[in-house]
Amino acid sequence: MENTESKTFADLELDGVILEGISVMGYTTPTPVQEAAIPQILHGVDVIACAQTGTGKTAAYLLPLMQNILIEQKNNHKVNTLILVPTRELALQIDQNLQGMAYYAPLSSLAIYGGGDGAGFETQKRALVDGADIIIATPGRLLSHLSLGYVDLGHIRHLVLDESDRMLDMGFIDDIMTIIKQMPANRQTLMFSATMPSEIRVLARKILKEPVEINLAVSKPAAGVLQGIYAVFEDKKTDLLVSLLEGKSLQSILVFASTKRKVDQIEKKLLKAKLEIACIHSDYEQSEREEAMLKFKNKSVSILVATDIVSRGIDIESIDLVVNYDVPMDAEDYVHRVGRTARAQNTGVAITFVTPEDAYRLVKIEDLIESKIRVIPLPPHLGASPDLTEKPKRKPGGFRRKGSSGFNKSRNS
Ligand code: AMP
Repeated sequence: MENTESKTFADLELDGVILEGISVMGYTTPTPVQEAAIPQILHGVDVIACAQTGTGKTAAYLLPLMQNILIEQKNNHKVNTLILVPTRELALQIDQNLQGMAYYAPLSSLAIYGGGDGAGFETQKRALVDGADIIIATPGRLLSHLSLGYVDLGHIRHLVLDESDRMLDMGFIDDIMTIIKQMPANRQTLMFSATMPSEIRVLARKILKEPVEINLAVSKPAAGVLQGIYAVFEDKKTDLLVSLLEGKSLQSILVFASTKRKVDQIEKKLLKAKLEIACIHSDYEQSEREEAMLKFKNKSVSILVATDIVSRGIDIESIDLVVNYDVPMDAEDYVHRVGRTARAQNTGVAITFVTPEDAYRLVKIEDLIESKIRVIPLPPHLGASPDLTEKPKRKPGGFRRKGSSGFNKSRNS
């Protein structure tokens, strides 16, 4: 994240207690989205911002909202701010960020997400009844609590929809609208989205009032990422992955596969090769997912294999290598995944396995990032690479656009 101007956080009208929180986080200069969004949010206007994960968007809304909440008459036992997010992982991550930033600020927060057991639901219920200044929630779980009658959203002053495009992709639109109906109309609403498809604009028109638009999206991976592809046949992919990972002394490697079944297959193969790994997909219990993520974050295991569920929004510092075992379905997802490396000022490597059947998706990615990705020769023991320029043999209608009818990406993750 490069800053061409030399504004400081203090220049953005942030107060002492918030500035202290910023120093707890170790941030020195605001990122472009922070520079653009913080003054607007402080002034109370609605904002629609196109900003990808990795741009510092979380702090771009949390910092000014924290300041606004502290200035406003605090009303104990009432929820002041609601942040809606697509996944439990993102909810937890934002809550952790908030706890760091609010280290010196008297603010309470609560993450509400699905999964877990009945006891978890009860704990969330008790916390909701007690109230918190900021609630970070996945729409489905919040709606379950709302339907039981003890959550009061009647005092909400600020609403944030984070990763809005993702929430729409996951089919949360009706839940979101039901939740919004329970809030006062005179609130501040902020929408953050990595992409701006027409559905997002339609939603924005419904829920925002004369929003200021901030558009800093760069559909390109950060400059520090070294990208490469292997042209490989499907049945050689696990061998390629093993040879890529064996003997590497890298500390953090994220492997993304398209389906749960593939994650399981990769797990078997890597364990057989005596590689220590952790796995995440939607069949795992919430506690298992958290444990896998923790092991990966604290570096007690260096390889995490996952489906799409962790590709966005998860804040893991300094990933050394991202492997796309399958070419992501959407070109934008490629950018998000590759965005796991080279976060903030770090550098990283992203490798993608491309079969002849997936070559058309690679073309879409290269169009989006406006550059060709370097082809790396296969290790000799894996034989010859397939020719990716040959006309792909695929069934008509095989490529489904994001948001096309009936296709719910979360089902497979
Ligand atoms: P986000 O886009 O919110 O997921 O943030 C991406 C990463 O950048 C996170 O690790 C943040 O902690 C970090 N970050 C956010 N703002 C700054 C900043 N001003 N300076 C340095 N790092 C930052």
